[in-house]
Amino acid sequence: MKSGIAASKGYAIGRVIIKSNQEIWISDELITDSIAEKEKLATAVRECKKQLENLRKQAATSMGEEQARIFDAHIMLLDDIELIDAIHYEIEVHKLNAMKAVSKAAGRFIARLEKIEDEYLKERATDLKDVVNRLIANLSGVGTDRVGMDFSINGENLVLVAHELAPSDTVMLDKSKVIAFLTDLGGYTSHTAIMARSLEIPAVVGMGDITKAVKNGDLVIVDGFEGKVIINPGNEELADYRRKISVYCKEQTGLRRLAGAKAENKQGKRVVVAGNIGRPDDVYQVIENGGDGVGLFRTEFLYMSQDREPDEEEQFESYRFVLEKMGGKKVVIRTVDIGGDKRPSYMKLPAEMNPFLGYRAIRLCLEQRELFKRQLRALLRASVYGNLSVMFPMISGVGEYLTAMEIVEECKRELDASGIPYSDNIEWGTMIEIPSAALCAEELAKHADFFSIGTNDLIQYTLAVDRNNDKVAHIYDPMHPAVLRLIKMTIDAAHKHGKWVGMCGEMAGDEKAIPLLLEYGLDEFSVNPSSVLQLKRMIMEL
Ligand code: PEP
Ligand code: MG
Repeated sequence: MKSGIAASKGYAIGRVIIKSNQEIWISDELITDSIAEKEKLATAVRECKKQLENLRKQAATSMGEEQARIFDAHIMLLDDIELIDAIHYEIEVHKLNAMKAVSKAAGRFIARLEKIEDEYLKERATDLKDVVNRLIANLSGVGTDRVGMDFSINGENLVLVAHELAPSDTVMLDKSKVIAFLTDLGGYTSHTAIMARSLEIPAVVGMGDITKAVKNGDLVIVDGFEGKVIINPGNEELADYRRKISVYCKEQTGLRRLAGAKAENKQGKRVVVAGNIGRPDDVYQVIENGGDGVGLFRTEFLYMSQDREPDEEEQFESYRFVLEKMGGKKVVIRTVDIGGDKRPSYMKLPAEMNPFLGYRAIRLCLEQRELFKRQLRALLRASVYGNLSVMFPMISGVGEYLTAMEIVEECKRELDASGIPYSDNIEWGTMIEIPSAALCAEELAKHADFFSIGTNDLIQYTLAVDRNNDKVAHIYDPMHPAVLRLIKMTIDAAHKHGKWVGMCGEMAGDEKAIPLLLEYGLDEFSVNPSSVLQLKRMIMEL
């Protein structure tokens, strides 16, 4: 058995097919006519762009606009002046042929990106490799369809195994053949993992050496829940997993019937069960799983999925999309929570001793006002397309909330002056994820329209346990009396002032906590979309 990071849920039993990137032989031959060689390069770049534009179209249809944008980034890499100049330099000065020049110059860029301790930049190295392979394939005259999959084994129920998968590989996956994939490299937030989740096929990534542990044709069981792979399983294991698959399928079918149901317990207490999303397209999963709304849209992922800040227009389109798709159901959008472990490299955030206690979320927004205002204007403009609530992350007390609201008012005045409409019915709320905010909930409840309890942070700050440090994970306890007291205080304070309270941290889906949270009077539970139906069932059975 081998294990890795469970990147996409589900089970699969199938035959291994190892992705073999065809090695293209690159000659060392020197050239004499650098103008002709540069012309060859320009033709190949144009050809690559055409191919990538086609892939983009394919991705937009099969996976949605958000995933398709990855190819925009690839096209942009082909326009990178620094890269093209470096290739030209190799052609002109060292008289290298175009293929050799591309491989040498781009190799340096890739090596530089791979050395940097930044997940985002490491993933950009994968993107660059993908583009460079394509460019070299075009220069060599080898068909670029060879750059992607090599399905030398025909058949169905294939489990694709690769050292790493690039977005362009993933988009070409034929779901009628490939039922799961496994990679040596990659993390939960890598593009490969993101795409697996949107394709809804099980995947285990970051497996280290799965490409060496299997060979073409091996039978494997993929467990996308546990991040496990069983190679050439015995009859007993096969029977065990066939049972699991059948139970899972039945469960899924049974759960789907609850999609339209209201989450009401046996005493008649009804709550809202909403979904958390990170990208606009995730809204489809909320809808499919019968979510009563979106309880948290982590907008920072819009800022992290590209190498620049999304402008007001792009943000407006993203928010409008989600609001329209939810068709009048409540959508809670959180203003950007950058900082901590979410650090887009283009923002050049200062190095900090304690990033989780530092320059993050609302603290950053109150200082970088123009960035904050671009987001607020986009939100206000989108508000006329649905039922919008907006909340601020990492509020520690009333002062920050009121300052944030002053900036909201400033944005409204600017829109008024330009005659741009926005809704008067937006609810403005705050996350309760810092103990001081829970302790001041009485004061905050006089001003805010609602609260959403972010237990992921609330627990880490209350118990002084780094939420990402597995050494102290055993102390991270949602049921600690101190945590429960803060939650109860928050709910009581809000209700006293006639305000509603949701919870969007992971604790909202924690079986042990749910009965107590219902008893405390929590009004909304917001969880990963794939957990919505299970949560509804659990509440209905209580
Ligand atoms: C939380 O802290 O519980 C929360 C929902 O926010 P995030 O996980 O994005 O910090
Ligand atoms: Mg948080």
